[in-house]
Amino acid sequence: MQQKITGFHQDDEQHWVAELACGHFQHVRHQPPWINRPWVISGEGRRSMLGHILECRKCDTGAPADNKPNAL
Ligand SMILES: [Zn+2]
Repeated sequence: MQQKITGFHQDDEQHWVAELACGHFQHVRHQPPWINRPWVISGEGRRSMLGHILECRKCDTGAPADNKPNAL
């Protein structure tokens, strides 16, 4: 299911995680040369992706909503 990005946070390993409108989280790693998301490195880049659509596989499987591991 396609969902909009509503925010971002970092997990325990400092990887960026997108927060989706459906309440699910999805990692948006930048691991060149395999995964290239240079926009995730900068605050400006992340802000430019707010409202962008990601395919949420958790919605397709009916997974419960994710919760932030630690409140920031
Ligand atoms: Zn979802």
